Amino acid sequence: MPTDNITENLGIPVPDLWKGAHRDDRARPRSRQRLLGPSSIGLCRRRAAYEVHGTWPTDLADNMHAAILGTWLHEGILRVLREQYGACTELELTDGVILGHADAYWAPDHLHDPAARTPQTRDLGVVEDVKTKSTRALDVVVRQGPSRAEWFQVHLYAHLLRTGGLRDHPGLPTGEPLPVDVVRLRYVGREYGQVVVHQRPYDEDVTKQALAWAEDILASPEPEAMPRDLDGPGLSIICDNCPFKTACWNLGQLPDDRAPQTILAEDTAAVTEALRAYADAAEVESASKKRKAKARKMLDAADAGTYGAFKLSWSGGNPRPPEPDPDAMIRVLEGLSIGIPMRPGGRTSRTIGVSRVPEAN
Ligand code: SF4
Repeated sequence: MPTDNITENLGIPVPDLWKGAHRDDRARPRSRQRLLGPSSIGLCRRRAAYEVHGTWPTDLADNMHAAILGTWLHEGILRVLREQYGACTELELTDGVILGHADAYWAPDHLHDPAARTPQTRDLGVVEDVKTKSTRALDVVVRQGPSRAEWFQVHLYAHLLRTGGLRDHPGLPTGEPLPVDVVRLRYVGREYGQVVVHQRPYDEDVTKQALAWAEDILASPEPEAMPRDLDGPGLSIICDNCPFKTACWNLGQLPDDRAPQTILAEDTAAVTEALRAYADAAEVESASKKRKAKARKMLDAADAGTYGAFKLSWSGGNPRPPEPDPDAMIRVLEGLSIGIPMRPGGRTSRTIGVSRVPEAN
C-alpha cells in the first residue's frame, strides 16, 4: 500500500517517496558497533550499553519521517557550511574507544598555510554540531539551553580533535593534535528554519565528565546492569524512538494493556517507592495548580506585550459555530417514541487513589 497521498494516479505508477526513504534509511550502515558514539554519551546509560555490547537494534520504526527529514536537511546544511564558509565537514574521529563524526570544524588559518598568518586571519579552532529540531523541541532549547548530553557530544568531538583522533582527511593533518578553542551547537527548526546557536569556550572539565560517564558504560558487564535513565515508552520521546526499547522494557512479553513501567514495580519496596513519588508529586502539583489559577485570574485583563522577562500573548476567544445538542436530540426522539440508538459503553477509566497512612502514635 502506498504511504504517499496520491489524489489522481491516472493509472500511472507513482514512486512512493516514504517507502523508498525508509528503505534508504534502513540501508544506512548500522554496525553492531562496540565503540561508543559521542551522541550517545550522557543520554541514557542502558541505551549506550546496548550499543557497546553489540545488541542488535530491533525497534526501527516505519514512521521516522521527522528523523529522515532531519537527515536530508542536515546534509544540505553541512554542504552550505562547507562550500560557503570553508568548514571541514563530517570528520571521522576516534580514540579506539569512542567513535564519532563531527559535523563541522574550522581550523585556525595558519594550520592550512603557516606563512599566511596575519593579524586578520582566524586564530581559533571551532567545532560545531548541527541539530535539526521540531518547533516544540527548539522552544525547549530557547528556554532551557542545550542539554548536558549535547554539550558532552560537542566537547568529545573537540577532545578527539585535540588528541589526534582525526582519521583520513584530504585537507587536515591526521593523527596529530588539532586546535579547538570553541565548541558550538547550531539548532535549526525543521518547520520554519529558525536558527538558534549556542557556543562557548572549550572546557576540559566537561570533557572529563563525559569521559567518566563513558567509562562506566565501557566497564558494564551487560546492558541490563546499567540503569534505565529515561522514563520509558509513552513518557519519553527518546524511549519512544529508541531502537532497543523492546529489549529494555520487555515489550514482547507484556500484556497489551499494561504500561511498560509496571515492570519497575517488581516488589513491595518498589511499589511503596512509587506511591511515595506519586503522593509527593500530587502535593506539589496541587500547590502549583492553585498558584497558576490565581496568576491566570490576575492576568485576565492584561494586554498582550512584554513585561520584564516575560511575553504575554492571547489566542482563541472566537465564537464557535453551533454544534449538535445531544439532550435536545434525546428529547425529540423520546417525543416521537423512537428508541435512543446505543453503542457499547466500554469501561470507565481506572482511577487511582493514593493517600498517606497516618503515622501510628
Ligand atoms: S528505551 Fe529508554 S530507558 Fe531504555 S535504553 Fe532506550 S532510551 Fe534508555
